[in-house]
Amino acid sequence: EKINNEIVDDGQKVTFDDIAGLENAKNTVNELVIYPMKRPDLFTGLRACPKGLLLFGPPGTGKTLIGKAISYESGATFFSISSSSLTSKWIGEGEKLVKTLFAVASYRSPSVVFIDEVDSMLTQRKSDENEASRRIKTEFLVQLDGAGNDRKGHVLVIGATNLPQELDDAARRRFVKRLYIPLPDQPGRECLLRTLLVKNSHSLTDKEIIKLSRDTDGYSGADLKNLCTDASMGPMRSMTVEEMMSIKANEVPPIAYKHFRQSLRGS
Ligand code: ATP
Repeated sequence: EKINNEIVDDGQKVTFDDIAGLENAKNTVNELVIYPMKRPDLFTGLRACPKGLLLFGPPGTGKTLIGKAISYESGATFFSISSSSLTSKWIGEGEKLVKTLFAVASYRSPSVVFIDEVDSMLTQRKSDENEASRRIKTEFLVQLDGAGNDRKGHVLVIGATNLPQELDDAARRRFVKRLYIPLPDQPGRECLLRTLLVKNSHSLTDKEIIKLSRDTDGYSGADLKNLCTDASMGPMRSMTVEEMMSIKANEVPPIAYKHFRQSLRGS
């Protein structure tokens, strides 16, 4: 759903099953926001859904995926905006966009408003601050305080950041709940490799998948996806263009362990 060029829902449905590993985060999110959004009548008072949730951790670890899955699993409308698209606005423009965003989100509530790189909008560095970004920040904090108070339902603001220390105190206080999204550990990487590999035919054995998961220490989910994408081209690279144009889809050789080794060497 497109409201304007900056506020976009790509329509991609993400469920918890699409997210490999991150079991702790999923459990926390279920209890903290999904059940409360589905049954606001049960989750009142101390149990009420928070207005702000901060997801922090290294890049490419699935923060955006979690935001989308929260929205899908709770049946909320998803709105997504990147801080950098707001902060590049002329004075008054960014502010207006924030207002519109929250007005529409509240109209379509329950909603999830996902703000990527939230640190760049809510930074504490005074040196970066100009009139436009100061006004955006103020408007955003006002909206964050007001969001969820409307009669119709809840607006959950999810901020994602790799640099939580850059957030200013007023902003940090608004994100009452903060969840660390770590790099995947070895079992997490194994799980993610298996999830990614179901998309194409491959000939990797269990042992080879485990070996790969051990050899990719420090890789994020996004890094692993890039690795799998590159390896998946392996069978294509060994063909001539003529062969590729004439081969039947079911005759394409499976992705093999050697293709992963080649991609790992190349990266
Ligand atoms: P950034 O901080 O760079 O915006 P992010 O933490 O929001 O990154 P995502 O955009 O959610 O990361 O993840 C990038 C891509 O990596 C996803 O589209 C997905 O393909 C893959 N990915 C990362 N983590 C996982 C995971 N746990 N399960 C499945 N896919 C994952």
